Order: sequence, then structure tokens, then C-alpha cells
Amino acid sequence: MSEEIQQKLTRRGVVVRGVVQGVGFRPFVYRLAQEEHLAGAISNDTDGVTIEIEGESASIEAFLSRLRLEPPPLARIDSVAVRNLAPIGETGFRIVASEVLGRVSTGIPADAATCVDCLRELLDPGDRRYRYPFLNCTNCGPRFTITRRIPYDRPQTSMARFTMCAACQAEYDDPANRRFHAQPNACWDCGPQLSLASADGAVIAAEDLVAAAIARIAAGEILAIKGIGGFHLCVDATNEAAVMRLRARKHRYGKPLAVMVRDLDAARVLCDLTEAEEKLLTTPARPIVLA
Ligand SMILES: [Zn+2]
Ligand SMILES: [Zn+2]
Repeated sequence: MSEEIQQKLTRRGVVVRGVVQGVGFRPFVYRLAQEEHLAGAISNDTDGVTIEIEGESASIEAFLSRLRLEPPPLARIDSVAVRNLAPIGETGFRIVASEVLGRVSTGIPADAATCVDCLRELLDPGDRRYRYPFLNCTNCGPRFTITRRIPYDRPQTSMARFTMCAACQAEYDDPANRRFHAQPNACWDCGPQLSLASADGAVIAAEDLVAAAIARIAAGEILAIKGIGGFHLCVDATNEAAVMRLRARKHRYGKPLAVMVRDLDAARVLCDLTEAEEKLLTTPARPIVLA
């Protein structure tokens, strides 16, 4: 590198706070740095993320502006603090291992509903995750539910004991992949599996566990589905006897129960929805909405 070019280099330290862990923020910054031809590094810490970038100052300005304007869908930026550093002639951009500091102030993102890309894979017989119920990516899946400690990294989550298979690890390591650094990345070969048990804990064997569970709901039984965020107690909402049995067991006689539906079209059949309600129903948090 010539003296002249060296002099044009700028280096900045950037601390971003908000919901920036577990939302694909590091891969996003990695891609941004690549696109703007910047060197440096990013790491998660207990305060958020720390970035150092080095390159031409115009590129650094573009990087900082895009950082604020184009964050990943689940991220929320509360503040961006920038300071000047002395250039060190670094080449390449790295994602470094997390550093745990004493104080903990970063937010853990909420669990997010399965995104459209994952839903497509779920229903694609040619996909290696066809019908795998625990698929996820950097844009969706469990976060809060599986986090034991922050920083949010796989060894600090309940996914720690599931070692990724070679195919999942390759996705996790590939900056161009949707699952780059997706902490709960999993598949049929390496991730959590479904199981079905009766009320006394006895394991129920079935060729297709989802079909077996559906059959039990259809028969009027109460099913406890362990999912992200806790257990869902489910009955067939059109089966009054089953609903009454659930109410009796829950000691919940008057208060309404939430009704789960497949999609917006199914919800529209049951009630009139305003545009605001429809928007709320389809946010990544998929909240219970009074309609
Ligand atoms: Zn996804
Ligand atoms: Zn796998």
C-alpha cells in the first residue's frame, strides 16, 4: 500500500445499542463491510455490538448511514456511538468471538414467528428441512425462550447440546447464507426432534407424530404443545365438550380463550378485522389480538 493511499484511510470505533443480538446483526454488518470494501471486526458484548471499521472515509460514511437505515427486520437500534481511531492497515473483516463484560444491558430479542423463506422450505419435499418443525434462520425462530445468558451465542442457549451437522455448520459459517451465525440453526440430522407422550408420560410411537397429534385433537383430547415461549394447551375450538373440559381443568369458566388459526384468511372467516389488527396479527411476534 502506497503512502498516499495509507493516508486516506480512516478507522472508526462504533458501539451499537438496542436489540442487536440474535437478529442477524453481525452477518448484516459483515455484508455491509464487504459491500463498502471496509476492513475491521465486529463482536457481541453485553452492551450490544462493538464494531471497528477501516477504509476510505466516504465508504465509512456510507457504511454508517446504511447501518442506521437498513438494519435486519428484527433489530432495533437505540443508539450508535462513533469515535475516531488510528488506522492500523487492517485487511478483511472478521466476526470475533464474544467478549463477556461485567455489566449486562443489551436486549434479547423476542421469539419470532417462522419467516416466509423457512415456511417455503418446511413445505418443500425437495428441501432437506422438509417438515422439520424446528427450522429457523437469522430472520426468525426462538431467541428469548432459548437464551440462558447473554451475550446471545449458541453455547449460552439451550441449543448448546445440539452439535450442528456438517451441512448446518456450513450454512452457519457462510456469510452469504441466510443462516450465517443463526444460533439455533438445526435440521433433522442434528437438531431437536418431536416426541409425543400421554398424560402419564408414556411415549406414544407413531409414524407421523404431527398427524397423530392432530388426530387426538380431532378426537376431543387436550394437547399440550411445547413450543417457543412455553406450552400451548390446545383443543378443537368447535368441540364444545372438549372446550368445557379444558375450562374445567384450567378453572377458567368465563374468560375467553385465544383461538388459533392458520392464516389471515382463516381469521377473516371468524371475525371482522381492521387493517391495524391484520397488521398486528402478522408481525414477527404474532401476538394474541382481540378482534
Ligand atoms: Zn426463517
Ligand atoms: Zn443439521
